[in-house]
Amino acid sequence: MNFLEERIVKDGVVKEGNVLKVDSFLNHQMDINLFDEMGKEFAKRFKDKPINKILTIEASGIGIASVVALHFNNCPVVFAKKSQSINLDGEMYTAEVESFTHKRVNHVIVSKKFLGPEDKVLIIDDFLANGCALQGLIQIVQSSGATVEGIGIAVEKGFQSGGRMIRNLGYQLESLAIVDAMDAKTGQVTFREQ
Ligand code: 5GP
Repeated sequence: MNFLEERIVKDGVVKEGNVLKVDSFLNHQMDINLFDEMGKEFAKRFKDKPINKILTIEASGIGIASVVALHFNNCPVVFAKKSQSINLDGEMYTAEVESFTHKRVNHVIVSKKFLGPEDKVLIIDDFLANGCALQGLIQIVQSSGATVEGIGIAVEKGFQSGGRMIRNLGYQLESLAIVDAMDAKTGQVTFREQ
């Protein structure tokens, strides 16, 4: 088991409805040393990519992306904002994202000032489930003319369809822990060998 898998076994809680709760170290209280380890690992896995910007989505991606950026030459971190309003001016890229945890559709927005054709983007997020959040972020990068150089995820739920879909699109997707099964009754979590 790697450092993140070990932490999930120690402090993660399996909830009904295929939800893994990691709020004591990732989603609410944040373990910055753990984020730093994650940054080191992503830097290794994406060492050949010319990344000059990190893109994430509020709220849980922001802390992770900020620490990860320290391992990518302190590159700027842009986070997509979630807005339930479609009343936006023309200076924004927008995409629709269906939220797995909140079961509603958000419009995510990024100002045109902060993403453009010169950008080589690493997308970072906390979880990958069905891939809706990632699809929205990829769509925003494409609209801006920037390039997706890679995607780094903390926890992928491998029994949901997002990972397969994103890899089939040809992106380098690196998930630090891939959960292949989890059981809310026993609390057991099974990881994919990587
Ligand atoms: P997707 O868009 O891939 O279906 O879901 C990804 C988003 O939903 C992530 O940004 C994350 O915030 C949230 N999410 C999905 N599954 C889980 C889960 O099991 N636990 C937690 N804490 N968040 C999740």
